Amino acid sequence: MTALGRTINLLATPVVPLSRPSITDDDIAAVVEVLQSSTLSLGPKLAAFEAAVARRIGVDAAIGVNSGTSGLHACLAALEIGPGDDVVTTPFSFIASANCILYQGATPVFVDIDPETLCLDPNRIDATVTSRTRALLPVDVFGQPANLEALRAIANRHDLAVIEDACEAVGSERLGQPAGTGVTAAVFAFYPNKQMTTGEGGIVVSDDGGLANVIRSVVNQGRDDNGTWMNHVRLGFNYRLDEMSAALGLSQLQRLDAIIAARARVAAWYAERLRDVPGVVVPTIAAETTRMSWFVYVIQLDPRIDRARLMAELAGERIPTRPYFVPIHLQPYYRQRFGYRPGDFPVTERIAAATLALPFFTDMAEEQVDYVCERLAGRLKQYQV
Ligand SMILES: *Cc1c(COP(=O)(O)O)cnc(C)c1O
Repeated sequence: MTALGRTINLLATPVVPLSRPSITDDDIAAVVEVLQSSTLSLGPKLAAFEAAVARRIGVDAAIGVNSGTSGLHACLAALEIGPGDDVVTTPFSFIASANCILYQGATPVFVDIDPETLCLDPNRIDATVTSRTRALLPVDVFGQPANLEALRAIANRHDLAVIEDACEAVGSERLGQPAGTGVTAAVFAFYPNKQMTTGEGGIVVSDDGGLANVIRSVVNQGRDDNGTWMNHVRLGFNYRLDEMSAALGLSQLQRLDAIIAARARVAAWYAERLRDVPGVVVPTIAAETTRMSWFVYVIQLDPRIDRARLMAELAGERIPTRPYFVPIHLQPYYRQRFGYRPGDFPVTERIAAATLALPFFTDMAEEQVDYVCERLAGRLKQYQV
């Protein structure tokens, strides 16, 4: 590598990563143990991981999948939601929560968000429900559960399924009820930036035994309920979670409470240091969020602050940041296909224009939080806010 290349590489290396999985010696040993066995897929680790998640969340069934996205897709496929069907969802999310609807040939119907929880606003849903509507697909944004008691009431009134995208909220609770419970089905995701990880991976949970069996078939090539190897009774996919991933998940799950506590500590350090910084609004937790499992730490900036410039300046200090989320309806593919324009979902757009995700991970040290906050506050001094 040239000297210039080395310099650029060094500059690109963050002092503080945006995110980093927390991997222990036990996690490593669990994966190595699988590699030393002869079973790398559809073995005892998957079954054990599924049982442990079901027990931990408090649901009857859990089905491991190879990503949160495939889990969401499997739920919609199992419910036979397809062309001509509408699914009500939020534009303020990671793109997967809407894409999974398109995979089935159904239509996402976006509804704007509640500015406090940043999740789907139940008060706006009734007006969008028609005879085509089949399901609600709320997202627990940044770890905070959506208003599920209101969403359930709407779903009951209109006979709709509720698929909860709990991909960012493993371990969170609303009004004492764990994220992922009390809905038709829910999905958790375990990509390396989530609270716990399996590498790639996710899990679907449900109390509906019949639906769970169909999901289990859908993620395993449409095999019949007995799993007969060459008998395919429906259109399925290969969305299976492998044994290495399941073993890692099982090991991580045993530390989930410690992980959630460590992340809450990091969030508290940030709040302490940023609460009084002009131009910064720290994330708020709704009174109904009785347990918060922090996924990311996302502040909102005063609209007078040039976010792109601030991000570039922080990158210069080797502090990576991200605008979370870019509204789904304004993504190029959605604009082209559906004709969405700025102004369609004003609350989402106002908040999306202001958000900034700061470095945040389980093992983040207080000094790292200090460094980020000090540099951020320093850079913000140039703005008269
Ligand atoms: C992480 C995430 C997913 C799933 O992501 P995968 O990378 O497919 O595991 C889905 N929805 C939301 C809101 C997410 O944050």
